[in-house]
Amino acid sequence: MIRSEETICAPATAIGGAIAVIRVSGPKSLEICEKVFFPLAKNIKLSDQKGYTVLFGDICSNGIIIDEVLITVFRSPHSYTGENSAEISCHASPYIIRKILEILIQSGAVPANPGEFTQRAFFNGKMDLSQAEAVADVIASRSGSAHRIALNQMRGGFSSEISRLRHELLNFASLIELELDFGEEDVEFADREKLKTIIFNVKELSDKLAASFILGNVLKNGIPVAIVGKPNSGKSTLLNALLMEEKAIVSDIPGTTRDSIEDTIVIEGIEYRFIDTAGLRDTSDVIEAMGIKKTHEKISQASVILLIDEISDPAESINQRVQSIREMISESEKRLIILINKTDTASGDRQSELESLIRIEKNETLLFISARENSGLEELRSKLSDISYKNRLSSEDIIITNIRHYDALTRISESLGRVLSGLKDNIPEDLIAIDIRQAIHYLGEITGEITSDEILGNIFKNFCIGK
Ligand code: GDP
Repeated sequence: MIRSEETICAPATAIGGAIAVIRVSGPKSLEICEKVFFPLAKNIKLSDQKGYTVLFGDICSNGIIIDEVLITVFRSPHSYTGENSAEISCHASPYIIRKILEILIQSGAVPANPGEFTQRAFFNGKMDLSQAEAVADVIASRSGSAHRIALNQMRGGFSSEISRLRHELLNFASLIELELDFGEEDVEFADREKLKTIIFNVKELSDKLAASFILGNVLKNGIPVAIVGKPNSGKSTLLNALLMEEKAIVSDIPGTTRDSIEDTIVIEGIEYRFIDTAGLRDTSDVIEAMGIKKTHEKISQASVILLIDEISDPAESINQRVQSIREMISESEKRLIILINKTDTASGDRQSELESLIRIEKNETLLFISARENSGLEELRSKLSDISYKNRLSSEDIIITNIRHYDALTRISESLGRVLSGLKDNIPEDLIAIDIRQAIHYLGEITGEITSDEILGNIFKNFCIGK
């Protein structure tokens, strides 16, 4: 798996822009580039250049110019991978990119595997495993909050904390093991009160981090929203109206299209993901759209439920529908927004009348909208934003978003829980030491101080080529 003696190359940019970057990393990077690159200034040698130098020149193959490029030189250890590296900025024609890769490979480089640059950065100590994982999250982040969490993790906010805890525990584990070495002699190197405090603190933090996973997962993947209601109440019109607004925003960013972002909207840095919208798109399937089982399923997956009714509906039937949805909501954190649609077809008096007749409970909101006329949607967006989690997130908060970390943290808490009760019950030291060692092991798994090929393989296979 590790093949650090090889020099690897791969395109680092997606097709579509004007410029492409090809990365080369490994012991022979500069020599290999030198064989195919001819600097404009004839007396300059690429392999003599200091790190962070940029050279202009031609890339040639058998005397034929392929492109005019810039090459940036990086010297070990001051590069992304920690190795000698070069980045070739060329014109982004698929032909040029392919040709340059081809001649780099002919000159001794090998094509990089997915994530291999980041994997090398990890092996060379440029980042730990949780930081490496965050690189992929930073690239994939689609909203401000997901980006902030990933960037924080990539910059080591989370790992430095984990490393610190691990070292504290390691100290104590060694002291206890030393006591065991003395066997029968009644010596106590590890101060029990101090040990208790430290175990307690580590456990508390590990509990807190594990608990942040629910929020982290929601912020990373979007807050799931369900749109429910009887047929023809305007569910698909509302969805389209919200997505159209989003399309207008997203389309302003060059190179993006709404199509690439499936049924999501971003409000104030938080992504909302409309779940199971297939039925809404195909409104001919009215029966399906009504199904109780389907509604139940949707509600179980959602954090926010939008129930749509029409302004012409009798208050009593609205109240009944609200009640039946309420009964399907099992968890108290789920929020229900009741939308009375088609306000364009009724008078203001009708709205006031319904307002006084519809009964809403704590954690529920009543809004009047016209999905077709785009009225009340701004209020809906701001309500979504209000009830989402943004107020609970400050920039210092460490939030975990990775299920591998969550698993490890849960195990750490379990082991330390056993240590605490063991200390209370005066359980023999050797048993306590085993649980402390276990917690240390799982802490090390998070940062990669302890890894297996299987863990590494799973992590890096999800990276793109060139990262
Ligand atoms: P769904 O079955 O709940 O998805 O309902 P649709 O979105 O397909 O809407 C059913 C009908 O109601 C369509 O003819 C829409 O044009 C219409 N409709 C939806 N929203 C409004 C609205 O705000 N005002 C009016 N007047 N008609 C609407």
